[in-house]
Amino acid sequence: MALLNTSTTFSAAPPYACDATTFAALCSLHKVAGSLTHGRKQLVVLSVTSLEHVRKPLLPRAGFLSKPTALVSERVICTDVQPGLKLELKYAKPPAKDFVEFMETMPKQEVVAFFRDIAAELEGFRQLQDFHMKVRDGDGDFRVEVFFNEERNGPDVAPYEDCIGCCPDTNLFVGQEPGMASKDCILEQFSLRPYAVCRLDAKGRTGFSIMPVRHVERMSELDDDELYGMWSVATRMLRQVGIPFISLILNHGRYRTLYHLNLKLWVGNKAHDKFLSTCNEETRELWNGLQKFAANRPKKQQLCFFYRRDGTCRHGDFCSYSHGEYRN
Ligand SMILES: [Zn+2]
Ligand SMILES: [Zn+2]
Repeated sequence: MALLNTSTTFSAAPPYACDATTFAALCSLHKVAGSLTHGRKQLVVLSVTSLEHVRKPLLPRAGFLSKPTALVSERVICTDVQPGLKLELKYAKPPAKDFVEFMETMPKQEVVAFFRDIAAELEGFRQLQDFHMKVRDGDGDFRVEVFFNEERNGPDVAPYEDCIGCCPDTNLFVGQEPGMASKDCILEQFSLRPYAVCRLDAKGRTGFSIMPVRHVERMSELDDDELYGMWSVATRMLRQVGIPFISLILNHGRYRTLYHLNLKLWVGNKAHDKFLSTCNEETRELWNGLQKFAANRPKKQQLCFFYRRDGTCRHGDFCSYSHGEYRN
């Protein structure tokens, strides 16, 4: 529940034109609250939907002096870290110390509302379709970073019929037949059916892929159970294995490499080793198999966006993209 000063103006920016019913409801709430609080001029706003119409500029945050910051819903603060390129979204209420704690201590409805408010800000207010969304911990808190407006080509892989998320028999390593079926990478012990499925990273990197069971392409298309289930698979697994994470990545639009929504959970080498040590022999064999397939993947023509000047790549040793004629 948020308390807002009545001097707050309700700006109706497109595409959130304030409809008459909502506005009337806010006005009547205002009157009730005004008479009950004896002139303290506070408006009690009861639901997030009535707050979609409120954008409240905030003072610049520490570390982001001169960067525009706004409370964009009851629970989300958004900072234009690099206007037109990068946003940072944070939980506006008393923060959890990290993302796992946030997921574990907040009620399901609050977690769902947090991600829905972010989707409304990105896809609704800012009309962004193509973006890279990254959750990471830091400074005793967690944040959601969003990168957009960069050149990206979108999925370059199989059409819908061969979707890795939907078709259990799809070969993950085309050109290395018989290869490995997508269902073979599934970690049932960490999946949460019927909502989301967890897999080993099919490219043999130190990460995991978490996909909704149903074929959807945007986080905003998930229902509440699927949305909560997808993020929960990640944090339950981290807690169960007892490892930290580097980042959780959810790409949208042209930033994707698969059509099926795919939450990528990246961990460090040590954390991945610890994960493998808790696995049975079968999973460790599977992991070794993936390493071999990944090492033999043919390089794609497309230039890698993650190659660094020092000769390393954020995709790791098995990056399947070209590092360029002068860079290989
Ligand atoms: Zn699919
Ligand atoms: Zn690369």
